[in-house]
Amino acid sequence: MAERKVYFFGNGKAEGNAKMKELLGGKGANLAEMSRLGIPVPAGFTITTEVCTYFMNTKGKYPKGLKREVETALGKVEKIMGMRFGDTKNPLLFSVRSGARVSMPGMMETVLNIGLTSATIPGLVARAGSERFVYDAYRRLIMMYSDVVMEKAAGIEAKEGMGIRQQLEKEMQKMKDSKGVKVDTELDAGDLKKLVNTFKKKVKGVLKKDFPDDPYEQLWGAISAVFKSWNGKRAVSYRRIEKIPADWGTAVNIQTMVFGNMGENSATGVAFTRNPATGENKFYGEFLVNAQGEDVVAGTRTPQAINAVSKMGASKHLPSLEELMPTLYNQLAKIRTKLEKHYRDMQDVEFTIQDGKLFMLQTRVGKRNGAAAIRMAVEMCKEGLISKEEAILRVKPEQLDELLHPMLDPKSEKAAERLAEGLPAGPGGAVGQIVFTADDSEAWANEGKKVVLVRDETSPEDVHGMRPAQAILTAKGGMTSHAALVARGWGKCCIVGCGGLQISASKKVVSVNGKKLREGDWISLNGTKGVVYSGKVGLLPADPRKNVHYKQLMLWADKLRRLNIRTNADTPEDAKMAREFGAEGIGLARTEHMFFGPDRITAMREMILADDEAGRKKALKKLLPLQRKDFIGIFKAMDGLPVTIRTLDPPLHEFLPNDEASQKEMANKLGVSVEAIKAKVQSLHELNPMLGHRGCRLGITYPEITAMQVQAIIEAACRAAKQGVKVQPEIMIPLVGTKAELENQRRLTVDTAEGVMKKAGVRVNYLVGTMIEIPRAALTAEKIAEVAEFFSFGTNDLTQMTFGFSRDDAGKFLPDYLAKKILPAEPFQTLDEEGVGQLVDIGIKRGRASRPDLKVGICGEHGGDPASIDFCHRVGMNYVSCSPFRVPIARLAAAQAAVK
Ligand code: PEP
Ligand code: MG
Repeated sequence: MAERKVYFFGNGKAEGNAKMKELLGGKGANLAEMSRLGIPVPAGFTITTEVCTYFMNTKGKYPKGLKREVETALGKVEKIMGMRFGDTKNPLLFSVRSGARVSMPGMMETVLNIGLTSATIPGLVARAGSERFVYDAYRRLIMMYSDVVMEKAAGIEAKEGMGIRQQLEKEMQKMKDSKGVKVDTELDAGDLKKLVNTFKKKVKGVLKKDFPDDPYEQLWGAISAVFKSWNGKRAVSYRRIEKIPADWGTAVNIQTMVFGNMGENSATGVAFTRNPATGENKFYGEFLVNAQGEDVVAGTRTPQAINAVSKMGASKHLPSLEELMPTLYNQLAKIRTKLEKHYRDMQDVEFTIQDGKLFMLQTRVGKRNGAAAIRMAVEMCKEGLISKEEAILRVKPEQLDELLHPMLDPKSEKAAERLAEGLPAGPGGAVGQIVFTADDSEAWANEGKKVVLVRDETSPEDVHGMRPAQAILTAKGGMTSHAALVARGWGKCCIVGCGGLQISASKKVVSVNGKKLREGDWISLNGTKGVVYSGKVGLLPADPRKNVHYKQLMLWADKLRRLNIRTNADTPEDAKMAREFGAEGIGLARTEHMFFGPDRITAMREMILADDEAGRKKALKKLLPLQRKDFIGIFKAMDGLPVTIRTLDPPLHEFLPNDEASQKEMANKLGVSVEAIKAKVQSLHELNPMLGHRGCRLGITYPEITAMQVQAIIEAACRAAKQGVKVQPEIMIPLVGTKAELENQRRLTVDTAEGVMKKAGVRVNYLVGTMIEIPRAALTAEKIAEVAEFFSFGTNDLTQMTFGFSRDDAGKFLPDYLAKKILPAEPFQTLDEEGVGQLVDIGIKRGRASRPDLKVGICGEHGGDPASIDFCHRVGMNYVSCSPFRVPIARLAAAQAAVK
């Protein structure tokens, strides 16, 4: 532990400063800084976080020398204030507050008015000139102290509703009832005098101890209670959620009390140096005359606006601080400017006016929503307050989400009934009526209804019903489950793995938390948080293209980033949308998605069911023109940009019908027996389909499939090129593990492509490359790169195969892994740098060793995750590819990776 344990501040001086947050906590460091800046701060001192850690490790002991340091600092405060702690004539009172490195709002304890005793009360009454004021302060002290120090810190667990604070509140209510008054301020000095006696008796009766009447006993009691509150229930669970280490500890700030409740010339308030909801550069805040801080928070009185621009809602008609106390308002406004210039960010401040004198009690970087964060960053840069790089770093990439998707209205959300929680697979908000099948979803949507498709899980067969739904909710599956992947691709709100749902699709009911919901019932989803609500929650619309600040920020991001951003898209519509969001190419077109349309699935099934090559070729011929048309559309949408198209990847059984009715329908359509269909489905059944007959293995067994796809791609490219479109096709072979596999498919691809171009009389430049999604491919990348012109890391499969976690089943146990801290993050969401990352790094290095100009990207879901994008930047990839709606997020994250 450092020699110094206590840091003094006050009167334009301080022993600490804003950089010392680790030692002094955020509040302590900023009080020191404000004091140095000459901003009026009530004098005080901070006990370091190291003392807290010592206190915790020694079960409540203080380090040697602490008492002496506290006494010295206290002496300095007394000198500055011209008052003495415990003095009978002019007593100094203290507030004792927690303050960790990062703000943990409301999670730890505070005690105010420390130092009021039977000996000091008369002195304060004489000085304040109001008996009522002093006894009100005293009753507040007894309430807070008995609750925080004598009960909670002593480890006493009161029964629900029987805590000392609640019991005292009941006494106060009794007093108000007997006087026939409603609010505390209507109790007079005599009432309060009686009340404090009742309080003291109650404290003694309940807690079996006298309320301390010695100022130092009060002070040290409060200090240890604040330290202990670091390990209080609320603080511990908040730390777990916010991932704050338990060994940081809290500092304790002991500061001269100033009173906002000393009469009509006193006030207290909170303010933001800019509007935290809109980001507008306008001073914004509220205050209460003749009140203490807790009154502003408690909501028992309506706070007033500090100025005209802050006036809204219930306080609109009330006079502002600017109108009531213009000189003090101007002083506050000057402090606002000083703080912003100094901290170069929006500050959230607390102030108190004591008898016509302004004091600042706190300043910290203010929280803000996404739209406000963007506006502030851009405007502060334009004002010359921060650089472009800083502006880029000021916005969290996820905050862009708020601009890209409609959101549940936070007010309406707060009031809504929470039903269940799942994984936040597709961000934004959605409201709709429950349907249980894809067909119902389609039919209801066609009638103009808004629906939420609720299923155990989804499969490619459900896509027609997923598209028109407002949102998708599944009971099973993880962040790379089919539903999650598809929904994210469309920017659709989606919650998966919502274990609390028990769905009976046949009965069309879902039970959740003992409640039964039926088809047609309304629900609302917060896909950003993964929460499901009952009924209709209000929605806020989104359109980032109208937001000038967003556009500006993205322009700066594009100039600063090194990584290119591509998109995963399989249709011309998605490609177009992604391009509007700033995509610079397609990094993955999953061609299998093109086989599910009603006009295609039959031909696909015919191909799968064919007994020989001739039969397959016949069916493929039907698919060829359809694929070609899709590719032409995509090439046109991406005119001038590269388009990576992947050959068929999933196991074939995914295309076959599994239920009796669809098998019958298919038998009829194809003119074969149901038994034949069943037999084929049976023969294609695999125990481990994800490790089975899929990826390039299909193209090796059935070369005609690859050949048809290459023909469609190159014919489309030639036709588009003839129409003046600049095409850059990149043909990608999936699930390669050896050089020979790729060589086989590459030869087939080149032969087919050359044949097509010769016939068409057009030449287009195309590349043949591969996905790296099998560990063996990463390890043998040097050899594979000899035949691959580009690599695209398929980190969904690579994660699956490196961990040995099934993508489709890991949702069952990954939450336990996260809760038990066996894994730091969901590995299908944020790339596991330590393990999977090594394979990526090795793959790139070895690949470029044999082909220095090898183009490298990523197209797994991680391509849209900011932390993973940072990794992709560091390992020297050329691009990341993500779903269209994540393109802006990736642009910003890539810029942040570059300027960090
Ligand atoms: C991957 O495995 O990362 C990938 C992009 O391919 P898919 O998700 O289609 O298996
Ligand atoms: Mg894959």
